[in-house]
Amino acid sequence: MKVLDLGLELKLQEVVQFSADIGKYWYQRYLLFSRYDNGIKMDEEGWFSVTPESIARHHAVRCSGGLIVDCFTGVGGNAIQFAQKSKHVIAIDIDPKKIEYAQHNAAIYGVNDQIDFIKGDFFVLAPKLKADTVFLSPPWGGPDYAKVEKYDMKTMLQPHDGYLLFHTAREIASRIVMFLPRNVDLNQLAELSLSVSPPWSLEVEKNFLNGKLKAITAYFDDTTMKG
Ligand code: ADP
Repeated sequence: MKVLDLGLELKLQEVVQFSADIGKYWYQRYLLFSRYDNGIKMDEEGWFSVTPESIARHHAVRCSGGLIVDCFTGVGGNAIQFAQKSKHVIAIDIDPKKIEYAQHNAAIYGVNDQIDFIKGDFFVLAPKLKADTVFLSPPWGGPDYAKVEKYDMKTMLQPHDGYLLFHTAREIASRIVMFLPRNVDLNQLAELSLSVSPPWSLEVEKNFLNGKLKAITAYFDDTTMKG
């Protein structure tokens, strides 16, 4: 009885450390990291932006095989799954705290050795990188993305627009995967694929979690690279 009480108290303490908005994410903690109880670390931003584990696992299956760059890795939700399915992962984040947490979390999943963690600005590092796949889960601009009818990649993505993101990534790999808000303007995704000559192929995938549309994943491929 005492143990149970203590457990509840600890959990409540954990909740009140964060703002009221975090509560709903905390209740979904095992959807974000199935090994949450093994000591997963997250800061406030991490709660909003980490990719739920089942979706990250799906991304990893679809991007399996070669070398993958995870450009805005955050607390490592995607990188951890990529590491289990790809040859090697380069995980980048500009925030040293995020890199520290991502490294810690990757160790919990036993995949630290398959990931090179780099603290830096993706746009600065990009010219030095070559890979098979570039995975982009860029800052959506916080939870407010859901308040607009159509998410505009030209004005709402941080720190640069979708066009610069795509054209920076295409110098690195012949496959670009973007994880985007569920209300993203699909015409803008089509515009991106048509902004290169010959156009890159585009596949748009809707990602559901517990029957709810959670996000959109766009897969762009350089068709001139296919066998
Ligand atoms: P959201 O708006 O989706 O909540 P965040 O603001 O949490 O997204 O950003 C996602 C991640 O991208 C964060 O971990 C942040 O530190 C990282 N990030 C932001 N800008 C850059 C950049 N230029 N290069 C690398 N990582 C970045």
